[in-house]
Amino acid sequence: MTSKANVDAARVELLLGDLRLPGIKLMWAKLAEQSDKEGWPAARFLAALAEHEMVDRGRRRMERHLAEARLPAGKTLATFDFDSVPMISKAQVAALASGDEWLAKGANILLFGPPGGGKSHLSSALGLALIENGRRVFFARTTDLVQRLQIARRELALESAIAKLDRYDLLILDDLAYVTKDQAETSVLFELIAARYERRSMLITANQPFGEWGKIFPDQAMTLAAIDRLVHHATILEMNVESYRRREALDRKRGRGRPATHATIKKTETSED
Ligand code: ADP
Ligand code: MG
Repeated sequence: MTSKANVDAARVELLLGDLRLPGIKLMWAKLAEQSDKEGWPAARFLAALAEHEMVDRGRRRMERHLAEARLPAGKTLATFDFDSVPMISKAQVAALASGDEWLAKGANILLFGPPGGGKSHLSSALGLALIENGRRVFFARTTDLVQRLQIARRELALESAIAKLDRYDLLILDDLAYVTKDQAETSVLFELIAARYERRSMLITANQPFGEWGKIFPDQAMTLAAIDRLVHHATILEMNVESYRRREALDRKRGRGRPATHATIKKTETSED
């Protein structure tokens, strides 16, 4: 390289840094070399750079969305064993993971089942799939989020705290039933549900379908009003299975694979999976 080319290269690096174009900054030298060698028209070189920056930004955006979502680590649809929850349709979950229809109208998902049944895993995996499809998601233990909103209410900032959550296409509230009586009394959870109604989606997990929801809200009228809004546009999934952890432990003890939870045909060499 001539010294003039060296000076140009140093300038380009500086300018790209100032312009905040890290994707181009990383790639331009290699592409410029290829372009020179192959005699690209200038427009082709520029298009290649712009495309590179575009892809890079998309990747970084997704990384940001993943970090802000606070999903429990390592829970994916790929590692979720659908065979052990025969009442959940894999095809239905895959359709929900595309996110297209239900998020646009602010519809909800309610996920019920006993502890250890896979509610947190499935909701987190769904959240991850939605982020990969370009959506924004926030995962929270319900009691943690309620606590945050209570603090906001004390500071007279509840409305803006709820409005800030609007940026998320999907709010996952894990373990709704663990809200305590004193948390219920401030009714911040009701205000959140009412504010998102028919606009922004929620995925709520709970051990009990509605039975114990009386203690989550200050009075019965509010409980009914909350349930009414949540179920109006909702997909309800019930995972009535035994604890996955318990079954795994039992299987280990017995020294064999997990027993089938539903009738299966004995597999032959040629049968498809
Ligand atoms: P819940 O939230 O319903 O109490 P979790 O989702 O926390 O249950 O599941 C308990 C543990 O068992 C987690 O480590 C989870 O990854 C695992 N698990 C539960 N169900 C499944 C499943 N169907 N396939 C794979 N792992 C599962
Ligand atoms: Mg859980």
